[in-house]
Amino acid sequence: MTTPAARRAPQSAPLPRPRGEASILHADLDAFYAAVEQRDKPSLRGKPVIVGGTGGRGVVATASYEAREFGVHSAMSAVEARARCPKAAFLSPRFDAYQATSRVIMDLLRELSPLVEPLSLDEAYVDLAAGGHPDLSDDGVRAIAAALKERVRERTGLTVSVGAGSSKLIAKIASDLDKPNGLLVIGAGDEDDALRGLPVTRLPGVGPATSARLRAIGVNLIGDLAALPEADVVAALGRTHGRGLWLLAHGLDDRAVVAERESKSVSVEDTFEHDIADLNRLSAIADAMARRVVDRMRRARLSGRTVSVKVRLPDFTTLTRSATLPAPTDDARTVARLARQLLGDVDVSAGLRLLGVGVSGLSDWTQGDLFAADTDDAAPEAEAALEAEPATAAPTRPSYPPGRDVHHDEFGHGWVQGAGSGWVTVRFETRDTPPGKVRSFRVTDSRLQPAPPVTD
Ligand SMILES: [Mg+2]
Repeated sequence: MTTPAARRAPQSAPLPRPRGEASILHADLDAFYAAVEQRDKPSLRGKPVIVGGTGGRGVVATASYEAREFGVHSAMSAVEARARCPKAAFLSPRFDAYQATSRVIMDLLRELSPLVEPLSLDEAYVDLAAGGHPDLSDDGVRAIAAALKERVRERTGLTVSVGAGSSKLIAKIASDLDKPNGLLVIGAGDEDDALRGLPVTRLPGVGPATSARLRAIGVNLIGDLAALPEADVVAALGRTHGRGLWLLAHGLDDRAVVAERESKSVSVEDTFEHDIADLNRLSAIADAMARRVVDRMRRARLSGRTVSVKVRLPDFTTLTRSATLPAPTDDARTVARLARQLLGDVDVSAGLRLLGVGVSGLSDWTQGDLFAADTDDAAPEAEAALEAEPATAAPTRPSYPPGRDVHHDEFGHGWVQGAGSGWVTVRFETRDTPPGKVRSFRVTDSRLQPAPPVTD
């Protein structure tokens, strides 16, 4: 090897061996939540859209590119976002719609390789070297990426930025560099050139504290870091962190793409209208969810060992806690007890936006069941059915956060443009219609109901 890293590294610690081809791909949808909203709401296409907590202390989850031009970005407070871009459409997130689209995208990625590592609903690594592609030259990879972008566009109507490189680091940087709707292959051997001029904060693991320490030793760019002897970086950041970053600065990253195990699971979750901070109330909801999960499992003749609780905090941080039983169960009380216990370990004092209970590690109810093959599809079906059910925690009167899908007996499918003072304003349109008309109704109008998103 002839990289600077190779020359300076101590003999005792072998260097990661870079791949000889740009066969790791990073796919990242552009402004995902906002793009789904613009796809499903034709009147918002080309306009600023902000998805997030719409209340006084909410934060921006995703801003469309039109809104970003006003300086609005993720994690900004909703109050500041409104001040910067008062004309934007402010929408509550529709996670069920985002999840449905995410499933389509992840399936497309799995057609490229069995090694797909999702990072979030809209972002994943793909190891093309495991996919049996005959041509992994830079041009070959570019053709694979271009075809993927086209299929994502056809199937979901969305644009994805794709980067490829000889490592996860390089692939992710490549997809970032060319956003939105990008396609960039950084060829093997070109890593140093690509990295040198970028701020050091582009490296994973460089947060505010690390970047302050690096600034103190004169490091602002990745190239500055790469130019230092390893010992100086280790002295500033400690052995493990220092060496890790020094290697990354040289484009040396041998982290493997790890496919998520395809484990069947049955789960149910609800997003609350108002954040709930009362642990007793949350525990009661978890109990009801456990009963629903077990009900579905039994119908699908499944039992499972791992119980999970998922919570989303007011700032959209999502946490999952799970515990594994010694033997599979299909007992609602056991699932509920574990779920309560897991929930008890979460700080709910700031309130929860969302709570979910799931069981995974599922096995067929009866060993050697002749019809076991039939149960393979049962879990996803159960999930779909659960999503369509009314929420456990739903108030008795329907609620109409902005952006929510609704159905009107006379006017069809639409979405809530605004609500207040006993009125709901609805725009009647779907992804396949031209921009629609707006009408207002009394909240009590029985012809108007919340509806699940239209998915394909
Ligand atoms: Mg994205």
